[in-house]
Amino acid sequence: MSGTVPRIVIAGGGLAGLSLALALKRALAEGIDVAVYDPALKRDPHGDKRAYAIAAAARRMLQSLGVWGEVEPKAQPILDMIVTDSRLQDAVRPVFLTFAGDVTEGEPFAHMLAAGELTATLMEACKATGVTLRPEGVTGFKPGPAAIAVTTSGGAPLEAALLVAADGARSRLRELAGISWIFWPYKQSGIVATIAHERDHEGRAVEHFLPSGPFAILPLKHEATPGEALPYRSSIVWTERSDAVPDLLSLDGEDLLQELERRFGLQLGRIAFDTKPQAFPLAFGVARTFVADRLALLGDAAHLIHPIAGQGLNLGLHDVAALAETIVDAMRIGLDPGSADVLDGYERARRTEVTAMGAMTDGLNKLFSNDFLPVRLMRDLGLGLVDRMPGLKRFFIREAAGLAGREGPRLLRGETL
Ligand SMILES: Cc1cc2nc3c(=O)[nH]c(=O)nc-3n(C[C@H](O)[C@H](O)[C@H](O)COP(=O)(O)OP(=O)(O)OC[C@H]3O[C@@H](n4cnc5c(N)ncnc54)[C@H](O)[C@@H]3O)c2cc1C
Repeated sequence: MSGTVPRIVIAGGGLAGLSLALALKRALAEGIDVAVYDPALKRDPHGDKRAYAIAAAARRMLQSLGVWGEVEPKAQPILDMIVTDSRLQDAVRPVFLTFAGDVTEGEPFAHMLAAGELTATLMEACKATGVTLRPEGVTGFKPGPAAIAVTTSGGAPLEAALLVAADGARSRLRELAGISWIFWPYKQSGIVATIAHERDHEGRAVEHFLPSGPFAILPLKHEATPGEALPYRSSIVWTERSDAVPDLLSLDGEDLLQELERRFGLQLGRIAFDTKPQAFPLAFGVARTFVADRLALLGDAAHLIHPIAGQGLNLGLHDVAALAETIVDAMRIGLDPGSADVLDGYERARRTEVTAMGAMTDGLNKLFSNDFLPVRLMRDLGLGLVDRMPGLKRFFIREAAGLAGREGPRLLRGETL
């Protein structure tokens, strides 16, 4: 370690890893040495055109970390949301549920933002704060009583008080630590793309529940060029059976567009693909434990959920808030941030929410990716009832915003550490 200042090594410079690095460095400044290792740090992050729904609690954290102001002009607030339930061939898609989008006056429950924009802003903020960014992979580690020895693809081994594995769902570090992974594939893939369209989305998100899975249309911010025929943009998450995806994506342009139109509908006028559709196989995964000897799992390395509710990254950002708070509070009273007691605090803070969110998204997917008539009738009755109960709707909106009931970590409340 560098002198007496504890070092934290983060393996993985995705949105979770970079946010944690920034949170620690902002809170402890010269009192901590933070290094992020990831071969992908070589790439230009702007190349990642995927867009995510950032829920209000995570947005509050990004604001506390001083990065929200930078990305806000590129973020599209979700102003309302409608949910429909129908078969593909149905001429009309009845609306079963509508939500107005504010959690507090003027604060939308979520914003849509391009992943590349947020990554680039976090990388700049990390550099400006003194986080070390290394475009190398972590290849191994060996925990000892006072430190963990970390090997990287780039050079001499280094010592750290704690190694954070933020290396994604296929985490090699989780495997090396011997942490088992409860996993099942969904036999579904999420096709994501940006769609250009003729009419304004007015900040509305739409979720069509179709028998092969949910089809989400999520509004994006876009600076139209004068005279642009399709001046608006939305992001889609199109869930399909995995075995149907290769044939679907090999359709030629017009045929694929027709398949898209059958699902997207015509409410936004003419449409076209603005980015090439990309398919991601969907699965559920959760680590048996989130911590090991001088090691903590973060983000998708700890849990992988169905994107039905757009909560995967948000769950990872909640990990960031909890782990940063645990480490900072421990270090302020002189505790070792890699000690078992400190790491147990993180595990306790996260286990319940992760399990609940995993079960909720898994249950929703089973309930809605289903064409069995009695199940359809029951769920439509349920949606209709929720629609008539403002109190329950408010609860769901606060849940989706990550703000329901519980006293969460300070960063998620918009406070500083
Ligand atoms: C179709 C789809 C739609 C989604 N929509 C949403 C949404 O709207 N809202 C939302 O909240 N979530 C959404 N998600 C989930 C979201 O994409 C993930 O939860 C999130 O990107 C995970 O971030 P992460 O930083 O934990 O991991 P990753 O983004 O996977 O980052 C891991 C990083 O670790 C690096 N790495 C790997 N191995 C090593 C190593 N040995 N050493 C160093 N670095 C390493 C990789 O290069 C990578 O950069 C969606 C997911 C899918 C599939």
